Amino acid sequence: MAVEATANIGVVGLAAMGSNLARNLAHHGNTVAVYNRHYERTEKLINEHGNEGKFVPSKTIEEFVASLKRPRTAIIMVKAGAPTDAVINELADAMEPGDIIVDGGNSYFEDTIRREKEIRARGLHFVGCGVSGGEEGALNGPSLMPGGTEESWKTLGPILKSIAAIAEGEPCVTHIGENGAGHFVKMVHNGIEYADMQLIAESYDLMHRGLGMDAAEIGDVFEEWNKTELNSYLIEITAEVLHQVDAKTGKALVDVIVDRAGMKGTGTWTVQTALSLAIPVTGIAEAVFARGLSGMTEQRAEAQKQHLAGPEQKLDVASAERAAFIEDIRHALYASKIVAYAQGFDEIQAGAKEYGWNIDLAAVARIWRGGCIIRAQFLNRVSEAFESGEADISLLFAPYFKDAIAKAQDSWRRVVAKAALNGMPTPAFASSLSYYDGLRSDRLPAALIQGQRDYFGAHTYGRIDQPGAFHTLWAEPGRPEITA
Ligand code: NDP
Repeated sequence: MAVEATANIGVVGLAAMGSNLARNLAHHGNTVAVYNRHYERTEKLINEHGNEGKFVPSKTIEEFVASLKRPRTAIIMVKAGAPTDAVINELADAMEPGDIIVDGGNSYFEDTIRREKEIRARGLHFVGCGVSGGEEGALNGPSLMPGGTEESWKTLGPILKSIAAIAEGEPCVTHIGENGAGHFVKMVHNGIEYADMQLIAESYDLMHRGLGMDAAEIGDVFEEWNKTELNSYLIEITAEVLHQVDAKTGKALVDVIVDRAGMKGTGTWTVQTALSLAIPVTGIAEAVFARGLSGMTEQRAEAQKQHLAGPEQKLDVASAERAAFIEDIRHALYASKIVAYAQGFDEIQAGAKEYGWNIDLAAVARIWRGGCIIRAQFLNRVSEAFESGEADISLLFAPYFKDAIAKAQDSWRRVVAKAALNGMPTPAFASSLSYYDGLRSDRLPAALIQGQRDYFGAHTYGRIDQPGAFHTLWAEPGRPEITA
């Protein structure tokens, strides 16, 4: 029997993300074709949520494609990597020129660039779309970062706007740019998320091990901080996590959780890409490395056995000064967070230049205000800074952020210095501060590095008093410089 084309959008892959996205689409008046490799997941979705809207389930990919209206538009939500390639190919075989394949998984942007080229050669559109907000966001409104062509955006835009989170009246979705731009921006979003989480974790550690505060007390501090310029989803959930009591032991749950942070790879990609673009994303890199260190079980156990030398890892803060020091930590967190965002946006700007994308950074900041994990009040200020042109060179030069750091920096320095003196690790705080001080240095020791490079490798150097490249015969004093 011929299948009637009734659906305006389809979802392939109905695990946690795909089924929630399909439900979200159905809740907003879309007729949603659904397909999963194993039919059980499709059945489960229809049995449990079929009454929430219009779904058209299919057992084969051919039936699924036939149930879509033209231009057929299908969002893939399957495991990134080879499974995504397999599903793209199955869809492309069943579709026709003009149809649109959307990959909503966490794909690596270079894969998206490759796939877009391959699919375009077959006359179809391919859109790599970053989806942020986890399962909850997929169901109730994610932040969406689609790439692909302008033409595909015409069809896809209204559908994505119907399901995106709303922040200050605007849907959290914008056409980021061609081919891999959406997945690139989603990757950097995740990198910033790593930095943000690490900075919060360092704040917690300073209060917990450093000041001897218990989880609930620290939870109260984060609850207060959430009423300040730090107001954000991550600060809010941190307070909740710290207030959670373990049902089994009655202890704070955080105290019974193994201190080994997992990761799925997007933070690593952000750093790898930044390295190849020569953009220092020090906050993000330290956040990824800190997770790596937490997972070095063998070395960490050995370090405990061997009692590596160092202070006791308690902060020498008198009780009368404790409240002021907690306020210092808040300022350090805010300043470091501004640096992490500045670095992330630098990476997006460098990526846009390298890959030929025209990315509106103000729009990126706006669509991160809702739905996604890094949603935060201060993104309003970030978008204003890019919109006005004040952040063209760096977010750090926009007056609002320049002033914010100026006000926070004494606290920031006190926190990093005290932590170092007392043997407490603050990799993200400290590296962000070093980056800031490096940036504002009128002269960097890179001059010496150029001297060393010229010495051992004749790599040449520039001079401050005349143009050109110079080489010195270092071992032969008195011999003239040779201009390369
Ligand atoms: P998983 O990443 O766990 O993937 C499971 C889905 O992939 C199932 O539908 C499975 O089908 C399908 N699949 C796996 N291999 C194949 C294959 N070879 N051919 C066809 N289908 C296959 O699901 P999630 O829902 O967690 O995530 C989906 C995508 O969304 C991933 O790319 C993920 O990175 C991304 N994402 C996830 C977020 C999250 O918070 N979880 C947030 C943002 C993005 P079957 O049932 O038949 O095995």
